Amino acid sequence: MKYIGAHVSAAGGVDQAVKRASELEATAFALFTKNQRQWRAAPLSDEVIAAFRQACADYHYTSAQILPHDSYLINLGHPVKEALEKSRSAFIDEMTRCEQLGLTLLNFHPGSHLQQISEDDCLQRIAESINIALDQTQGVTAVIENTAGQGSNLGFRFEHLAAIIDGVEDKSRVGVCIDTCHAFAGGYDLRTEADCEKTFADFERVVGFQYLRGMHLNDAKSEFDSRVDRHHSLGEGNIGKTAFSWLMKDARFDNIPLILETINPDIWLDEIAWLKSQQQ
Ligand SMILES: [Zn+2]
Ligand SMILES: [Zn+2]
Repeated sequence: MKYIGAHVSAAGGVDQAVKRASELEATAFALFTKNQRQWRAAPLSDEVIAAFRQACADYHYTSAQILPHDSYLINLGHPVKEALEKSRSAFIDEMTRCEQLGLTLLNFHPGSHLQQISEDDCLQRIAESINIALDQTQGVTAVIENTAGQGSNLGFRFEHLAAIIDGVEDKSRVGVCIDTCHAFAGGYDLRTEADCEKTFADFERVVGFQYLRGMHLNDAKSEFDSRVDRHHSLGEGNIGKTAFSWLMKDARFDNIPLILETINPDIWLDEIAWLKSQQQ
């Protein structure tokens, strides 16, 4: 079955995100468990944890349908030791928050070399950061997102994702999330069904569908292979609707959260309904 939703706001508390997802008739959702632009957050209280768990039960969401996203500040491949340590502890905190909320996935952007270390060194650092976090937490899978490759962000090639996975000791708790806008901007075409077949054949060969734990469904304002990250509403951008219709009919994308991060939340209800209508 397809789990389809959007990255909803957690304003007013994480339990409010669950309610917002339900209002969209979503069968999946993403959220931040803390302010994504700040390093620090108050620990989750027992009341907040209980309210979130109750809301998930009330609105019928299991952890398989929820893809939390970590803070944008974290760089698990940071070239400088102190900054790397700061990112690693913030990431462990994010994993711990997921654990407390009963969540089993945590989606994050791999990291950036900031032109100070090589790509390979940076990828190894990221893998080591994941090893440290997995060592100190239980039950949460680290889900690496492919990026558009803006600036010195790694993760725009499937080979980057494979290299990170290769360095992770516990392969049962590492996975990937493919963002369609990022893939397209990173040079993986999705404009026709043949393009989709080829891109995901590459993905299967380099990474493998056994690691696919989620998808971000975004059309792209960015040009193909531009390495620029600009999302658009489905069918409004340079990818077009074909890719999203194709995805809905392919069983390899079953049972993982499929999350809209498209630019107009006012039409998420319609976008989710349209995606559902595209399933066979
Ligand atoms: Zn994304
Ligand atoms: Zn993006």
